[in-house]
Amino acid sequence: MMPSGRERSVYLDGHATTPVDPETLNAMMPWWSSMATNAHSPHSFGQRGSLAVEAARTEVARLTNVASSEIVFTSGATEANNIALLGVAGTTSPGTGGKSNIVVSAIEHKSVLAATEQLGHRGWEIRLAPVDRFGILDLSSFNRLVDDGTFLVSVMLANNEVGSVQPIDDVISICRDHGAMVHTDAAQAVGKIPVSLSEVDFASISSHKMYGPVGVGALFVSAAAPLRPRPLIFGGGQEAGLRPGTLPVPLIVGFGTAANSRAGFLHGDALHVEKLRDRFLKQLESRQVSFAVNGHESFRLPGSISLEMYDITAMELIMRLGDRVLVAEGSACNSGNIEQSHVLKAMSISSERAERCIRMMVTRHLTEDDIDYAAEQIGLATGEARQ
Ligand code: PMP
Repeated sequence: MMPSGRERSVYLDGHATTPVDPETLNAMMPWWSSMATNAHSPHSFGQRGSLAVEAARTEVARLTNVASSEIVFTSGATEANNIALLGVAGTTSPGTGGKSNIVVSAIEHKSVLAATEQLGHRGWEIRLAPVDRFGILDLSSFNRLVDDGTFLVSVMLANNEVGSVQPIDDVISICRDHGAMVHTDAAQAVGKIPVSLSEVDFASISSHKMYGPVGVGALFVSAAAPLRPRPLIFGGGQEAGLRPGTLPVPLIVGFGTAANSRAGFLHGDALHVEKLRDRFLKQLESRQVSFAVNGHESFRLPGSISLEMYDITAMELIMRLGDRVLVAEGSACNSGNIEQSHVLKAMSISSERAERCIRMMVTRHLTEDDIDYAAEQIGLATGEARQ
């Protein structure tokens, strides 16, 4: 809960970003000022920075069950997704070794879909794998789409609009049968559910989705992957040449601190946010708010809530709530642009229904009191809209 002026604000948009934990903020602070350094400088400050970067790399690797040498720091998951797709495809050309298609799920983040579109322009055949009405990959269709000509597959671990968690183990085994490499966008999953990346070839992680600072993330490149992506930019050779540029030491320290604390709090936080989610839905019902829940009841990120409201459009609700309760419509990454959410569309939700869909995520800092207030405000706004 964040007080703003006289009113309180309850932030329920945890898919878009999560607030930085106070201890993470404290850990970052000296690296902006008294300990500011370039981790590549040869002096003692530089060495200290470099040690801090390596400690953070170890924490991120530990949280995701991989080796620290397999973690490449990037500016976030958007960049990691781009390097994974464009960088891997950039090592070859379509048709080489009989590999000519790339399979991605229909509910990927725009940074995967847009990068894939670029690969389509470069001659790769792009195949979109459908999902069911719960936003879960349809495995039988996926099985038909992946064949011996599949070069690379990208399926997210968890979706950023409806929170659906994907059957990645099945994806991996289907891909292995056909000699296809696997990338997973794990931005929403890491730090919210237990994640082991050790069986995929490449994965993307974002710090600001796991209570760390925005502007930093990582690409996991498995030591066992058949190839290493080509860099997309060139410079001073940092991150083994795959992602050159001066490392943002304060952000990386924050990312590492967040990873360390996530490892310890994963279970407790999941219980806490799920309890609040249940309470919130019950309160909405008791306040005569009519809605249906989108997404899967069990294969879902803890605290994730996607609702189809029956009496109010998402935009009207957001406007009526003002800064008292912060919820999102569709995907925040597409905001400003009123096209229908491709995720809801892939779940066979019509555009008329999608206009009434809101997405929320309960984050770890919220209390029962915050949730009660949010439900009360949504109840009031919905009641006003009905009049
Ligand atoms: N993938 C997913 C699933 C996401 O939710 C997001 C953020 N909305 C991204 C990628 C992009 O991450 P970043 O903001 O770190 O670039």
